[in-house]
Amino acid sequence: MQLSATALAARGAKVALVDKGDFAGFTSQNSSNLVWGGIKYMETYEFPLVRQLCMSRNHLLRSYPSSIREIRFFTNLDKGFRFSPFLLYCGALLYWAIGNFFTRSPRFLTPQANQ
Ligand SMILES: Cc1cc2nc3c(=O)[nH]c(=O)nc-3n(C[C@H](O)[C@H](O)[C@H](O)COP(=O)(O)OP(=O)(O)OC[C@H]3O[C@@H](n4cnc5c(N)ncnc54)[C@H](O)[C@@H]3O)c2cc1C
Repeated sequence: MQLSATALAARGAKVALVDKGDFAGFTSQNSSNLVWGGIKYMETYEFPLVRQLCMSRNHLLRSYPSSIREIRFFTNLDKGFRFSPFLLYCGALLYWAIGNFFTRSPRFLTPQANQ
């Protein structure tokens, strides 16, 4: 709600935020505060949604550079995971491309490379 109000205000609209409780006091309280591009929706092939979320993420990163910064995340895979590491890496590359290569590129690490 606050984000929408901020976006509208940035476009010149006069915005009043009225809340029955405290601002950001409900679902927003539990948010991890991550601005993400929806990588989890890649698994269900919801590519238009991923594109939309990536574009919003890019817009927020561009608009609020002092408040939002890029962080990397690392995932390790158990043997026998339902997708091969290589396929997941291809998915991460596709996700990166869907996001217009806006973030730093994904990296594929092997245990051998880390020794
Ligand atoms: C565990 C968890 C983690 C999450 N992590 C992320 C994340 O990392 N990144 C991300 O982008 N999203 C995340 N989300 C989702 C995100 O938190 C929500 O999409 C977002 O907080 C929704 O904000 P909101 O302002 O729409 O709703 P809310 O924060 O729920 O605000 C709704 C407000 O409306 C008020 N209200 C209700 N009824 C009335 C009424 N009749 N009159 C006046 N006011 C009323 C309430 O008091 C409340 O303050 C997460 C959600 C959860 C649960």
